[in-house]
Amino acid sequence: MKEIEISRTIIEHYHNKLLACLENDVVVVGSGPAGLTAAYYLAKNKIKTTVLEKRLSTGGGIWGGAAGYNIITVEDKTILEEIGVATQKKENLYTADAIEFAAALTYRAKSAGAEIFNLTEAEDIILKNDFVKGVVVNNTTIRTTGLLVDPFCIAGRCVIDATGHQAELINMIKTKKADFHPGQLQEGFMDVEKAETEGIEKTCEIYPSLYITGMSVCSVFGLPRMGPIFGGMLASGKKAAELINEKIESTNTS
Ligand SMILES: Cc1cc2nc3c(=O)[nH]c(=O)nc-3n(C[C@H](O)[C@H](O)[C@H](O)COP(=O)(O)OP(=O)(O)OC[C@H]3O[C@@H](n4cnc5c(N)ncnc54)[C@H](O)[C@@H]3O)c2cc1C
Repeated sequence: MKEIEISRTIIEHYHNKLLACLENDVVVVGSGPAGLTAAYYLAKNKIKTTVLEKRLSTGGGIWGGAAGYNIITVEDKTILEEIGVATQKKENLYTADAIEFAAALTYRAKSAGAEIFNLTEAEDIILKNDFVKGVVVNNTTIRTTGLLVDPFCIAGRCVIDATGHQAELINMIKTKKADFHPGQLQEGFMDVEKAETEGIEKTCEIYPSLYITGMSVCSVFGLPRMGPIFGGMLASGKKAAELINEKIESTNTS
């Protein structure tokens, strides 16, 4: 029966994809601009990368632009050009269409080799010998019902918290480890220059094998908000990928 053939094909394909992604070099939690950029550069460098996104669509805060005006701004168009997004110059800024940007970044990350699972929420961290080893995940629709349904686990040699303003993975460690004081977990007042520069500088390995990127960095270090200028998010994602590349290369050669 055609109906069953369709169902079987989808279930088989999905399960094969999931099984292939249970062990990774990197698990990226959150598919906003920072997480997707990190995933794109990691996958491009042949690092096995899986992205988890709790919502239906990837792109995080990209889609809304500013107050729903779906245009984004950057000061440096290098990454947008690399992923094939059209830009327009306006004085010291470049603008791009938020919809084109979200779609292109998702496509580039996926076609570079990253696997992406939507409707998949990281609900906890796997922490062993004080190293982050992966995440505990569940289907978002199960999570939102509040039903007590057991999760499954996805391992990563490194994990990236790209969960945006909430810095969810950092909070998970903070609630369970009294000696972990990452920062204030609250952004400061709006200041674009300071936030962009420091947000990139402070993108780091915040806990053994756990990296932070994007708005998580601003939250954790109490940096100012910066509004809909996305260059800092992209550069932070790229930096997280570079830090992990270096770490994986050094552990592979030692
Ligand atoms: C109040 C407000 C203030 C803003 N301030 C700034 C600003 O200061 N600077 C700036 O550049 N932009 C700001 N923005 C715009 C926008 O949010 C960000 O630029 C950008 O989207 C942040 O990128 P990100 O990749 O860090 O996180 P996001 O775009 O927020 O993406 C995070 C993604 O992670 C997913 N996620 C979260 N938790 C989990 C989990 N447990 N498991 C799986 N997936 C998860 C989310 O669904 C989301 O898709 C602001 C937006 C708002 C609403």
